[in-house]
Amino acid sequence: MFQFFAVYGNPIAHSKSPLLHNYTYAKLNISAYYGRILLDDSANLRKNFLSHKLSGANITLPFKEEAFHQCDEVCGVAQSIGACNTWVLDSKERIIGYNTDAQGFYDALKGYKLRNALIIGAGGSAKAVAMILQHHNIPTTLINRSEKNLTFFAEKGFNCFVSSEFKPTCNYDIIINTTSAGLNDSCLPCDEKQLKELCSCAQYAFDLIYGKVTPFLALAQSFHLVCNDGKIMLINQAALAFKLFCKKACENTESTYIASLMSEILP
Ligand code: NDP
Repeated sequence: MFQFFAVYGNPIAHSKSPLLHNYTYAKLNISAYYGRILLDDSANLRKNFLSHKLSGANITLPFKEEAFHQCDEVCGVAQSIGACNTWVLDSKERIIGYNTDAQGFYDALKGYKLRNALIIGAGGSAKAVAMILQHHNIPTTLINRSEKNLTFFAEKGFNCFVSSEFKPTCNYDIIINTTSAGLNDSCLPCDEKQLKELCSCAQYAFDLIYGKVTPFLALAQSFHLVCNDGKIMLINQAALAFKLFCKKACENTESTYIASLMSEILP
């Protein structure tokens, strides 16, 4: 049976998901097509999904929280994150929600030896990163330029600080930038002196932004940290969603193999 999938967002024209999924259907001989849908009103997400008779979808900004609320059941770490980026329609026509961003991030850390972590930022992606690190018992501290978004993390038991008031009391093995600082500007995500201090004691730096060396990563490189941008996380989350979408066809295919196929097509 030919199946249809899509990614929802606003804006959505920039999304690489159709490229990644359609390329991989072709490679694995799967009869499916993956499109993109620009949604204006988040209240219509579920209705739109069902009316298009999709077998599954990815949901990106700014609808991940709505996707959490509008599905019939939430699985795994998505429950504690409060956001879903993947929906799968099951055999009883129920929408099952997942968060593959979190596991996609964690899989990108393969081979890293981590005793603790520092996350800069407290937005949606920070929730996925923080909850999966907590799930794997890695003590994690968060800093953010403003206080409001830190409440979610404080309630989940993380150490949280407003960046300007943060005085590190230990060394962090990995510094993770989950802010959009550096995406369309030349900003660092926090004070330069503070960041230099953190980098001088760390081993790894991870920036969720994909496709460029951000000022944060450039600084981390100057301290010879092992650096990663968001590409591998982007591919991993897509590969994990792909496996959920094409469960039967991918029964014997590892998500790492799907990720390797996807990385062939992503510049
Ligand atoms: P949100 O809008 O939910 O959160 C943005 C965060 O960045 C907030 O904590 C905000 O602080 C902070 N911030 C924004 N600008 C600055 C700045 N100039 N200096 C310091 N802090 C700043 O966004 P998301 O968490 O969803 O996404 C963040 C980034 O992660 C984006 O660039 C996105 O592309 C990337 N991403 C990558 C993924 C991947 O697969 N590689 C997956 C998901 C996201 P405040 O709370 O004070 O407003």
